[in-house]
Amino acid sequence: MSREAVVAALTGPELKDVVDLVVWVEHGAALAANHLGRVRLGTDGTHEVLEGIDPVASEDPMAFLPYAREVAAPGPSVSTDNAYPYAAQRILSLFADPDRSTDVAVVHTPRHFFPEEGGHVGEHGSLDVIQSRAPLLLAGAGVRRLGLLDEHARLVDVGPTLAYAAGVPRTDLTDARGAPLDGRPLAAYLEELPAGQPRRVVGLLWDGAHCGELLELAERGELPGVARLLERGLALRGGAVAEFPSVTLTNHTSILTGVGPGRHGVLGNVYYDRATGEQVVPNDAETWPRSAEWLRPGVRTVFEMVNDHVPQRDSPRTASVDEAIDRGADYATMALLRAAGGFEAATAAGQGVLPEPEHSPFLTNPEDLADAYFRWAVQVDDMGLQQVLQLWERADTAPTLTWWATVVTDAGHHLGGPRSGPARSSLRQSDARLVAFLDHLESLGVLDEVTFLLTADHGFEGSDPSVTGSWRPALDALGIPYRDEGPGFVYLL
Ligand SMILES: [Zn+2]
Repeated sequence: MSREAVVAALTGPELKDVVDLVVWVEHGAALAANHLGRVRLGTDGTHEVLEGIDPVASEDPMAFLPYAREVAAPGPSVSTDNAYPYAAQRILSLFADPDRSTDVAVVHTPRHFFPEEGGHVGEHGSLDVIQSRAPLLLAGAGVRRLGLLDEHARLVDVGPTLAYAAGVPRTDLTDARGAPLDGRPLAAYLEELPAGQPRRVVGLLWDGAHCGELLELAERGELPGVARLLERGLALRGGAVAEFPSVTLTNHTSILTGVGPGRHGVLGNVYYDRATGEQVVPNDAETWPRSAEWLRPGVRTVFEMVNDHVPQRDSPRTASVDEAIDRGADYATMALLRAAGGFEAATAAGQGVLPEPEHSPFLTNPEDLADAYFRWAVQVDDMGLQQVLQLWERADTAPTLTWWATVVTDAGHHLGGPRSGPARSSLRQSDARLVAFLDHLESLGVLDEVTFLLTADHGFEGSDPSVTGSWRPALDALGIPYRDEGPGFVYLL
């Protein structure tokens, strides 16, 4: 069978430095293989070794903690030194879409450096724990002040938690068909608000912000905004585990719908749809405003969940700032772009012209602007803060749910990898924007009446410039027609 030939080609010892794992689903079960062996993974944590030794030796979501352990030994070079939390559940979700799922998914080794195929110094996308670990902080009104906890959650829990904190009852945390979500509200960390206090929830997504580094810098006093949240709540040292692949649009969608990729349909930043015969690229400035076109019919966004429980009013009940997954939000940056005919059209027409990054009051290291993505991200994030301050001009008209995505953190971590100068400056500048917002809330006298959740869509690991190469020649040599999107999503045609 073709898939067996593909698995055999990708698990040869000559590819062991670039192929960490090959995963697929057979007869309803998740399988993983590499040069060491092959295993069938149960959702109850059981591992049935089918060949050689178990390549997925650990599923520990708390692996490489405390953070000093990760810093001391970054980028495990063999899968048996790594950990892959919720391996079966996450693989099964990726393979649950009838038209968009791949035949085989290839996981890059943490050290693989592949700039010729879109890779960066800092990378994410893997099933492994570090690239899948996003920060998870809860703070403010209705949050228990528990400080740093040796616990973890999942990114599919974020949407249900936001909706629950905004007043949606547990029984209504379902998809559009009334089925339970994949995630659950993190109710154990929440308590009742004082009687009569309006619910106002602010969700912050710092794209690609590294969990361990974020908490470390906050504890060292280098992220005063995050520290201010932490003293009003809690953070999980194990963060929140991303869906697989640990890429941006898949996880933004999982966060804001509470379900994995097999249910929401955004399988990756790039994927192939067999039903239409088209490549879909949902993670692009031109396609972000069209995200709703790719959501599967059963999906309900957190904005739709909250709007169902808040009476219509003149001011937005829900707001989605700089976020692609915005369906249902009363205010949405992407709605402005849709109205203008897309990102390029809006810029060309002089609408929403991005502010000059050189003049950004939040820029800490001007040298970072030499990178085009970082430069654009500073502009987008400055506009993001402007939007949030406008939405919160007055407390009584502020949204019940404000979702605010920040992008410079992704740019900084791609540019230099975790703990690098650009990564740290991206965290510091995002923190400075957060401080501006917190100060504004304080001036309105409502800082302690707002519930905050700070997270990201994935983690990051630094690649090794000496570990290069591609599995493409091995696939080409099979003479089987295929597509490799990503790279890593292999479709047999
Ligand atoms: Zn991202």
